[in-house]
Amino acid sequence: MFALFKEGLEQIAFPTTCVGCGDILSGQENLLCEPCITTRFDDPNPANADTCGGLILPDEVSFQDAMWLYDKESVLQTIMRMLKYEGMAETGQMLGRLAAERISKRHLATRIPLAEEVILLPVPIHKRRKTKRGYNQARLIAEGIAELLDVQVLPADVVVRVKHTVTQTKFNFDKRMQNLKQAFELRKPEQIEGRHVIIIDDVFTTGSTCFTLSSVIAPAGPASVGIFTIGMA
Ligand SMILES: [Zn+2]
Repeated sequence: MFALFKEGLEQIAFPTTCVGCGDILSGQENLLCEPCITTRFDDPNPANADTCGGLILPDEVSFQDAMWLYDKESVLQTIMRMLKYEGMAETGQMLGRLAAERISKRHLATRIPLAEEVILLPVPIHKRRKTKRGYNQARLIAEGIAELLDVQVLPADVVVRVKHTVTQTKFNFDKRMQNLKQAFELRKPEQIEGRHVIIIDDVFTTGSTCFTLSSVIAPAGPASVGIFTIGMA
């Protein structure tokens, strides 16, 4: 009964106008109109460097990149909120499709020589959170990417989140890393060995989540590890 109600609500609530400018969306557009996609957000890495903003990367990470910088009008924040808390799964796939373009332009054939060896690793969420939300938003983004690029998404049982971590905003970076380290468990290292792994997440803030995950998969011997997120805070 509740599920039915929720599904109905989503359909009604799904916007037909652009969340950026309020214009009516065309049938092809989803959430954002084409002009907003191309003009509203800043590229956090216009020089196509190995990191956005000169971050020091852990040894095993070869690049960290993001699609959009958080904008002053908080349009991206609205989108991320929809994706995470309002059950708008289509948002994730749309963002993934946009990300695919960026990844293929910047990383495939340059940083990563062979696309067929690329595997996407969405940052795992705990099953309790997944049950509550109905999906893992990072996985939806990864699926959107895989739809356009000839790459695979790692199954959810390869690396799992075993610990339900509380919001960590009050912890410093080291404390977060420590807290997170036990949160991920690598269960099928053979699926990572020799592959070019790209960790996918919605937002990159301090990097603690992605960096911890990269350290957890490093012993499996990936050919390389990159990090790609939609937002860069
Ligand atoms: Zn717009």
